[in-house]
Amino acid sequence: MTAVHVPGAPFVSDGLLVSTSPATGAEAGRFPVASAAEVAAAVDRARAAGQWWAGLGFAARRERLLRWRSLVARRIEQLAELVHVEGGKPVADAVVEVVTAVEHIDWAARNARRVLGPRRVRSRLILAEFSGHLEYQPHGVVGVIGPWNYPVFTPIGSAAYALAAGNAVVLKPSEYTPAVGQWLVDTFAEVVPEHPVFTAVHGLGDVGAALCRSGVDKVAFTGSTATAKKVMAACAESLTPVLVEAGGKDAMIVDADADLDAAAEACVWGALTNAGQTCIGIERVYAVEPVFDAFVDKVVARAGRLTVGPEGTDIGPITMPAQVDVIRRHIDDALARGGRAVLGGAEAVQPPYVRPTVLVDVPEESAAVREETFGPTLTINRVRDAEEALARANALPYGLGGSVFGRRRAVAIARRLRSGMASVNSTLTFAGMSTLPFGGVGESGFGRIHGEDGLREFGRPKSITRRRARSLLPSMTFERTPADVARLVKAVKLMYGR
Ligand code: NDP
Repeated sequence: MTAVHVPGAPFVSDGLLVSTSPATGAEAGRFPVASAAEVAAAVDRARAAGQWWAGLGFAARRERLLRWRSLVARRIEQLAELVHVEGGKPVADAVVEVVTAVEHIDWAARNARRVLGPRRVRSRLILAEFSGHLEYQPHGVVGVIGPWNYPVFTPIGSAAYALAAGNAVVLKPSEYTPAVGQWLVDTFAEVVPEHPVFTAVHGLGDVGAALCRSGVDKVAFTGSTATAKKVMAACAESLTPVLVEAGGKDAMIVDADADLDAAAEACVWGALTNAGQTCIGIERVYAVEPVFDAFVDKVVARAGRLTVGPEGTDIGPITMPAQVDVIRRHIDDALARGGRAVLGGAEAVQPPYVRPTVLVDVPEESAAVREETFGPTLTINRVRDAEEALARANALPYGLGGSVFGRRRAVAIARRLRSGMASVNSTLTFAGMSTLPFGGVGESGFGRIHGEDGLREFGRPKSITRRRARSLLPSMTFERTPADVARLVKAVKLMYGR
């Protein structure tokens, strides 16, 4: 970090990371910056703790995790207030975020044994004399690197599932939200005081890089695509497996038979909640010609009513001061290329706030359409039909989530969106459904958190075969005879050769 302190940005002073409110600049907490050696030591402690935690078994871990869930739920106001102060998002949005995290802890705790525990697997006619057994064993220590925009939801999406699977977790929260990260590990330690099963290391990006090189058994990274590439490069040095939840440029498609009021309401929420600083936020809309004008009017009417400011508003400040420049550049570029602002515009950018901005008829090659804006802005473009909407929606390297509003064809369109997730007649809802996997394709990343796939992400499959009878057709032995091989040839032709 530079020596010059940017108001609203965290800074390092005397070896401490000082976290500040993006709205007021008030200090939200200070935390020792970990050196690479301290990161490695934290991982070593976690490794020993993880062996104890794995040894507890599914039932005892479930009981502890459910107690942690209860604690987080009971202190929801406290955590939401901290998220608000440190990151700037309105308290109501912070409450919604914590609710989804509580739901994920609950589901992961309750389902880990069913999904990951030892089970028999059917054998087939070939090798029928053996039984098959499968279980998912913990990796050991999982390094979780998190972003600032959802400082509870995103680390919990990895950590709760990793912990339920029997791993220890070392969390590197974003430098913008260390206090929230510390709150999570401190409350976990209240219900699991025996060993440092879930701990945090603090600092800037280099601390995340040190975590990648610390000997962790897996890295779960959530953040930008650019940083994801650095994380992968660091992990490649030791062949450490990586889960990547990266950026997005999610599209919403409004078809001719959509309920336009519902579509406008969901669009405004999906695009502008958390000041648009949402990985799965709706950043561009394609509305078909017959409904375009009516839809735009409804979006503008709703978005124009939203309040912006530090306290008791719908939209808070932009958390990262540097992001304001990106938002300004996208708006300016869209307007310079012939797009029109039907709400907000260049003058909407008043750091640390940006008022809702709706841009229409924005050329597809504009930064506002192609790059992640991460602000309370939205492009709405006119398309001939759903086919053209799909072609444009699918034209970017990103592919995280998306939304479709319509009746007859909506699900079929959603299935053809090049994305890991989609909501039909809503926005962002897949994130809160703990039974569904969460993750992207292309530059939005790979691997999955949440749901059964999210649990399996944090266990390695262990396959065991066990002999249960003598082999009638011995093949995997030097004791086999030419007659055995001939019988094998006959059998395989009979079974598969027709
Ligand atoms: P960044 O990529 O800047 O940072 C993410 C994390 O990585 C931070 O903890 C950061 O630390 C750390 N980091 C930075 N450099 C390195 C490095 N070289 N090696 C290892 N770790 C490093 O993302 P933001 O925090 O700005 O988050 C916003 C981004 O996250 C957006 O692109 C958004 O779309 C994406 N995101 C994706 C989600 C998903 O589930 N797909 C969910 C939420 C957000 P520090 O902060 O100290 O620099």
